[in-house]
Amino acid sequence: METIRNAINGKLVQSSSSRSQPVFNPATGEESAVLPLSSAAELDEAVAAAKAALPAWRDMPPLKRARFMFRFKELLDAHAEDIARAISKEHGKTHDDALGEVARGIEVVEFACGIPHLLKGEFSRNVGPAIDSYADRQPLGVVAGITPFNFPAMVPLWMYPIAVACGNTFVLKPSERDPSAPMLVYELFQKAGFPDGVLNVVHGDKEVVDAILDHPDIKAVSFVGSTPIAEYVYSRGTAAGKRVQALGGAKNHMVVLPDADIDKAADALMGAGYGSAGERCMAISVAVPVGEETADKLVAALKPRVEALKIGPSTDSEAEMGPLVTKQAQERVLGYIDKGVQEGADLVVDGRGFSLQGYENGYFVGGTLFDRVTTDMTIYKEEIFGPVLSVVRTNSYDEAVGMIDAHEYGNGTAIFTRNGDAARDFANRIEVGMVGVNVPIPVPVAYHSFGGWKRSLFGDHSIYGPEGVRFYTRLKTVTTRWPDDIHEGAVFTFPSMK
Ligand code: NAD
Repeated sequence: METIRNAINGKLVQSSSSRSQPVFNPATGEESAVLPLSSAAELDEAVAAAKAALPAWRDMPPLKRARFMFRFKELLDAHAEDIARAISKEHGKTHDDALGEVARGIEVVEFACGIPHLLKGEFSRNVGPAIDSYADRQPLGVVAGITPFNFPAMVPLWMYPIAVACGNTFVLKPSERDPSAPMLVYELFQKAGFPDGVLNVVHGDKEVVDAILDHPDIKAVSFVGSTPIAEYVYSRGTAAGKRVQALGGAKNHMVVLPDADIDKAADALMGAGYGSAGERCMAISVAVPVGEETADKLVAALKPRVEALKIGPSTDSEAEMGPLVTKQAQERVLGYIDKGVQEGADLVVDGRGFSLQGYENGYFVGGTLFDRVTTDMTIYKEEIFGPVLSVVRTNSYDEAVGMIDAHEYGNGTAIFTRNGDAARDFANRIEVGMVGVNVPIPVPVAYHSFGGWKRSLFGDHSIYGPEGVRFYTRLKTVTTRWPDDIHEGAVFTFPSMK
């Protein structure tokens, strides 16, 4: 059985840790690899390698750094199928969905190829007599990323292409549940010719995360994962004086107004609710029809669609969704369905008994649909992260908006309508960071930036795009004049334009 290795200073190295955990194929339940849980000392080695690589990398002209990035992009394109297979094998998502993930990651690399332009500063001539001023953004140093299981290739690519293009060096701590895809992407990064130590990967759990958060040589941390851990990472990292962006969990609502095309809204909910088995931070987990008639029509349109969901392993090209990532995730989601029934929600489609011939040990849960969910129920309040869609009926548009605003999470939301006034008002005032108008999963493209509000993001910066460049750099402003233009002697008053 393969043992996953760390990557330190350009070499794949076996961890010396005595702790490890298995990696599973979620479609079969079989163990597929062993993941060592590295020690703080191994993290230290990775940080030392990143620190040693920093001076030459930081001082390299941005155009040269961009050329490595172009080669990396070509290699990612050429190996997209392999990366997608590696994702599906350990995550469980369908092959096409995994390919979509890879494509969205590559788009961030494409954005990072434009780094010379993105790092261009500002210049002002004659801010005073013969005095000029310029401001530009400089890298922070060694920075780190901690990533979740649900996009094992894409989320690391949200981080390090931009960080290293800006001139930083990087240490990545991927999810322990599906480590092979980020390692394959790392190998392509090395093949692109980046100098050793620019990117390092250390696998592990809380021990490595804590070592990252406390390490004096790490200047910034990007985190994507669940809200309790995001909050912990943000508090501990900022207490240690680091810049931290920590993206957390979500409960994304889709409002359906009475004038919406119900079939199109139902189709949108199917993809956004059940795609990737609901394991997306931008999944729609709550449908909010406005008015009883809209609700009745929507539930009637959803029920046969959910019942007809094609569920299977990633090797089945017909499958629309796969298993959940682990046995624990499967048990957690089944527990939420039980809880929804206990708390009085109307279970329209029950995914609990689902079993697939030949894959009886896989972590599958069937598509599940609840109607008449209310805001005091656990299945409404908490992120389920599974193929479970809740319908919360509302009487008015204002009630729908108030409900979304009152939720602790504010990652994404959508409205389906033909009414431009309502759509504009919704986009304008909703307390959520990413909004779709007739677009169910409004994930910003690579040259915009991704980030939720409220308890879906801790920190001041969204991730990737222009916000990514700002996060991984700091502003320096230089004011200059030359000796021939210095006429006065000592000046004791505060300099101002007289
Ligand atoms: P997770 O929080 O369990 O793990 C994320 C990372 O934190 C992993 O690398 C893990 O090793 C580490 N970690 C876990 N427990 C830790 C602890 N006690 N101390 C220190 N580190 C710890 O998240 P997950 O289950 O891998 O991913 C799913 C979650 O991520 C969902 O909540 C989802 O909404 C969220 N997510 C958010 C976004 C976003 O952009 N907002 C994107 C993807 C996923």
